[in-house]
Amino acid sequence: MKTLHFPVCRLLLASLILLVGFGFFLPVARAQTDCRITDIRFWQSPEEAQIVFDLSAPPKVTPLGTLSDGTVFFDIEGCLFRPGRERYPLNNAFVQVLNVQARSDGGVRIFFRPGAGVSQRTFVLPRSDAKADRIVVFLTEPPQQQLARRQLEQQEISRLKAGNVKIVVLDPGHGGEDPGTRANGIVEKTYVLAMANLIKTFFDRDPRYRAIITRTGDYIIPLERRRQIAEQLGADVFVSVHVNFNHARRIQGIEVYYESPKGAVGEADRLVAETENQQDAVGGVGQGPVAQIVKRDIVQKQAEIMFRSSQLAQRLESRLAVAVPGLQSRGVRRAGFKVLHSLAMPSALVELGYTSNLVDASYLRNPNAQTRLAQGVYQGIADFLESQVLPGVDASYVQYVSQVEAARKAQEERARKARERRKTLLANSRPYTVQKGDTIPKLVARFKVAKGVFCEVNGFSQNRKLKVGETIRIPGK
Ligand SMILES: [Zn+2]
Repeated sequence: MKTLHFPVCRLLLASLILLVGFGFFLPVARAQTDCRITDIRFWQSPEEAQIVFDLSAPPKVTPLGTLSDGTVFFDIEGCLFRPGRERYPLNNAFVQVLNVQARSDGGVRIFFRPGAGVSQRTFVLPRSDAKADRIVVFLTEPPQQQLARRQLEQQEISRLKAGNVKIVVLDPGHGGEDPGTRANGIVEKTYVLAMANLIKTFFDRDPRYRAIITRTGDYIIPLERRRQIAEQLGADVFVSVHVNFNHARRIQGIEVYYESPKGAVGEADRLVAETENQQDAVGGVGQGPVAQIVKRDIVQKQAEIMFRSSQLAQRLESRLAVAVPGLQSRGVRRAGFKVLHSLAMPSALVELGYTSNLVDASYLRNPNAQTRLAQGVYQGIADFLESQVLPGVDASYVQYVSQVEAARKAQEERARKARERRKTLLANSRPYTVQKGDTIPKLVARFKVAKGVFCEVNGFSQNRKLKVGETIRIPGK
């Protein structure tokens, strides 16, 4: 997080003001007198940028206006900012300058000038969990620029693949608004970015590989997007890099994860639902045998990829376990991390140690140990990529899926039988209008029927209260 402060500059003249943003209204919250801007933050990735204003209360924001030079502005009514004007010369492709002016009548006026072709969306976000009320200015690079950049990337990757160079995608976890874990002088998002870069230096020295990092700076990327980057690049392997935390401070050690059966089943169901939706859209079959075939194919693919991911995880773990004497390994584990759901390439997630443990943290901060850990990740990936890929499927996953399916079928069968039974009971029942003073115990005694059957035929819970005048069913003719 960074808050920038720069000297005052009077750049913008009121006479230039040309209101053009009338079509765009921000949600206006209840006016607050205790609204203050507590922080101004700026995040930037190659594709987008954000200016975030943290506020002490929900803001009342005026519609956006635009000046003749393209500068966008809006007011936050009744909101306090340090006296004077603040200018933030951000000077990047997304936004050249940001001005925050305290108005004499107590409000704050914000000016920002988006770069050429950059589009902006500005919105208010209410407070949630640890996050304050915020105003977010979201800036996106021009679409043609994005397309051209991606095409260049793709050409480079095709050239590398033609030369048999293997593509390794390294994914430093967290970033931007999400710092990850924080303990003993280590902030996860910063630490894992530095580690990913260090790992990359080993690949850069090896002509057999090209390493690409999903997050090159301090910004957030959605979890799905991280593996999509690898998928679009046709990566041979994907490894996400993290450090761990536990409130039990004695817990220490390295962990290497790959996809769990539970996580994979959830993903398979999501993919089946997605396919069904697409079929619905073209008027095809949504349910039944088609879904079963789709699911079987997905499960087969998952089981193959998972089998390879387990080999990747094992090789990473073998190298990491001996990388730093004193930094122990807790072995290969499985978890349903979203970044590990890919069907396109084997993937793993490494937790390089516990920041919450004093011994681990001292190793994690040690430059020599960092180099050895980075080398361990490189060697583990290289071992995997150079080894004979064993064909096969993850048998435990296939077994897990059949257990889940069997349990689901049994559940459906129980529900079907219950429906049939109720149908028969209903057919063999007669209507009755509830009189004053009737209770379920009195009625079951009078009509000599079992309370369970009485409740079942009416769809009642055991302690349901009867209403005078309502029609219920009495079991038996
Ligand atoms: Zn993490």
